[in-house]
Amino acid sequence: MNILWNSIVGHQGNIDRLKLLCRENKVPHAMLFCGIDGIGKKKVAQALAGAILCHNPVHGTACGECPSCKALLADIHPDFFQVLPEVKAGSGVIRIDAIRGMQEKIARLPILSRQRVVIIDDAQTMNEAASNCLLKTIEEPGEEIYFILITNSVMALLDTIISRCTREEFAGLSADVISSVLEQQGISKDKADYLAGFADGSVHQAMLLNDEEGISLQQAAMQFFSACTEKRLDMEAVWNEGKKLGSYDKGQLKQWFSFYIMLIRDQLVLYSGSQVPLYNQIDIRKINDFTGQLTQLELIRLLKLAREYQGRLRYSVSLRLMMESFIIKVKDLLED
Ligand SMILES: [Zn+2]
Repeated sequence: MNILWNSIVGHQGNIDRLKLLCRENKVPHAMLFCGIDGIGKKKVAQALAGAILCHNPVHGTACGECPSCKALLADIHPDFFQVLPEVKAGSGVIRIDAIRGMQEKIARLPILSRQRVVIIDDAQTMNEAASNCLLKTIEEPGEEIYFILITNSVMALLDTIISRCTREEFAGLSADVISSVLEQQGISKDKADYLAGFADGSVHQAMLLNDEEGISLQQAAMQFFSACTEKRLDMEAVWNEGKKLGSYDKGQLKQWFSFYIMLIRDQLVLYSGSQVPLYNQIDIRKINDFTGQLTQLELIRLLKLAREYQGRLRYSVSLRLMMESFIIKVKDLLED
């Protein structure tokens, strides 16, 4: 695993703060790292663990050479523990057994370092029993034990857990930073910039958009938008599109909506004559073809509708029914 701060992209403010805490020996015994998925919170937590456990840290940074650092780099440090959700049928949960297992391990004396560090990843997936069990430990963590909880949703944690942790908030990454990470992974500059525009601050999200599934979702959104601009939505199209879109899962539909919203947004930018760059840099010719087909009012209404339905995804039980309802509303809106 990574233990050096300088291998982390972005989050300089967080890193500076954490390094200072290390230098001054003031790292809180329970920290909560909050922020959306896919921005590198865990990498930061691991670098912090490296600095805490290191035998000869330099200015709040792991030395990379001592037995502790070497053990961490080889993923065999006996005083470093990570609790991860167990994943079943696509959703993860941290159960009480996982917390108890960790507690048994930290009850023993440390072996390689004076300290011990526990990372609890996706802490929001702890069920109530697991949370209550953890609570006792972070209330009295013992001298040299450090907990770093990582979460994408503070609201999903028990108040009692939140109140005992020092919070460290992580912002989404800027489009420039995401683009440079993508470029390092061999993606062309144009494409990297384009994907970064959709990525919502998350490298993980950008990578999802770049895989085959992301590309096919983008094309599906483009086709649907094209049907809207040509007002080709009859009832047959409603059922066909409803069936197609209704077969996606929630995550896929969330992405589909993001693409669709970006298409509408680009049309509005073109209307405004503003110099703001378009999201769809790659399909610029198609984007230009669409221009003027829909009025500004129609576009604004479509945007509102798409945002509303994207928000409904969270609560929706039948995605197919929901998408049919969405398409019918789009059809009505365009016929007004
Ligand atoms: Zn070291």
